[in-house]
Amino acid sequence: MKINLKEAFILDRYEKTVQFHLPVGEELRSLAEFAEEPLVSFTIRGKYGLVQCETVIDFACTSYCSRCLAPVDKKLHIENQRRMITDPLMETEDTILIDPNYDFFPDEEAKSQMILEFPERFLCAEDCKGLCPICGCNLNLGDCGCGSESENP
Ligand SMILES: [Zn+2]
Ligand SMILES: [Zn+2]
Repeated sequence: MKINLKEAFILDRYEKTVQFHLPVGEELRSLAEFAEEPLVSFTIRGKYGLVQCETVIDFACTSYCSRCLAPVDKKLHIENQRRMITDPLMETEDTILIDPNYDFFPDEEAKSQMILEFPERFLCAEDCKGLCPICGCNLNLGDCGCGSESENP
């Protein structure tokens, strides 16, 4: 998908919304499982050469608890407003850089925002006890007794 945004930069006023379901490629699939394609919306508003892009991305995915390996479902919501620029020297965290021909690639942008915002780890619960390092049993389901060995010599 490619949208040319030249008009957004040269017209006094410009507004366009693109909404789509993002096909989940290999890069995203390596982070988690997606039962449905993420819903993405970009609203681009230009005003005398100043172009702002409002991004909203909603998605649900499943990955594994980094402590006990139980599956964890997560719903994530990304929402931000960033300035669109064509000059790489002006790039900051709050800008979206598009190419010098004003071509914008919404699916690429959505994908990179998702990767950037993706949780570093999934936990089934904040206080997940994880797996016993000795016998490997799930300590959330009960105490295996390995940890109390020193008390019963
Ligand atoms: Zn867990
Ligand atoms: Zn154990």
